[in-house]
Amino acid sequence: MFRALLLEKNAEGQAQARLAELDDSALPAGEVTVAVEYSTLNYKDGLCLSPSGGGLVRNWPHVAGIDFAGRVEASEDARYSPGDRVVLTGWRVGEAHWGGYSQKARVKADWLVPLPDAISTRAAMAVGTAGFTSMLAVMALEDHGLTPDKGEVLVTGAAGGVGSVAVAILAKRGYSVAAVTGRPETEGYLRDLGAARIIPRADLAETVKRPLEAETWAGCIDAVGGAMLARVLGQMKYQASVAAVGLAGGAALPATVIPFLLRGVNLLGIDSVMRNHADRVRAWDRIAADLPMDKLEAMIRPATLQDLPALGAAILQGQVQGRVVVDVNA
Ligand code: NDP
Repeated sequence: MFRALLLEKNAEGQAQARLAELDDSALPAGEVTVAVEYSTLNYKDGLCLSPSGGGLVRNWPHVAGIDFAGRVEASEDARYSPGDRVVLTGWRVGEAHWGGYSQKARVKADWLVPLPDAISTRAAMAVGTAGFTSMLAVMALEDHGLTPDKGEVLVTGAAGGVGSVAVAILAKRGYSVAAVTGRPETEGYLRDLGAARIIPRADLAETVKRPLEAETWAGCIDAVGGAMLARVLGQMKYQASVAAVGLAGGAALPATVIPFLLRGVNLLGIDSVMRNHADRVRAWDRIAADLPMDKLEAMIRPATLQDLPALGAAILQGQVQGRVVVDVNA
């Protein structure tokens, strides 16, 4: 038997969460059974926990949680043995497949990544999809020529999960980071993570008529999308790149192509969900090397399975700071 946060549809067709004791036979098919130690909360988890399932969950009962880290309990795949420490992000786990809000998970071996020795299962979930995606974004910007001497790097949605980890990684690598936030009270937190400059969200919240403004940013990790991304494109330096990660501010892109044509600006799409295994291993190795663990600790908000329904609603309101780490055994 194991405990999980089970989402079930009620008579009105709304999904509701309850802590349930389940038998191992309830687990979905898969080659590897993992004793989950920690999970986390991402924006997408907020959608999956919502009464409608956010358009992502189609089958109930369901166990959400798009990320987990733990130890292999049993494996039918030669790559994994009992006791191995593993991490999982993406692959639509927690959406189409049962996820990490549970003491046990059963998944395909191909979906797992062995956890580097330097990262605990708790730290791995402080990173989670949000931090893993931040690392992919940093890697993409650097693969396109970003170096610390090129100038300031902008991070939007900075006090959120993706943004917080992006600020910490970039600062550790020697970049001068400008952090955009709509929450002035997070300034101390963002400066402790390594932000050199705080930019109020209102400064970039609206588009302007001019398609090009002063060349300001050598790179950008954008968790917000919408008008803010459109505005930032017109402020990028010549041949600089923006890594488009999120849509916390909207999915529309009310931009012109002028920054691409006259400044050679690059818009780099970042997807973490279907990312190939080799890139995943590279990103987790880079996280072990480039993410200061003391800064990561400062981002953690501890939580239990019981806390998740309320936290899911909060993250959809932009009210969660840093990274929620869920101890599924607490
Ligand atoms: P969070 O809610 O933790 O962070 C989002 C942040 O964006 C908020 O904290 C807030 O930052 C800012 N924000 C929220 N609403 C608005 C708004 N209306 N206008 C401007 N800024 C806003 O979420 P995550 O960090 O987990 O995820 C961020 C985004 O990245 C989401 O859209 C998510 O879906 C996406 N994502 C994409 C992935 C991929 O594979 N491409 C993987 C992971 C996440 P502040 O308070 O500092 O202003």
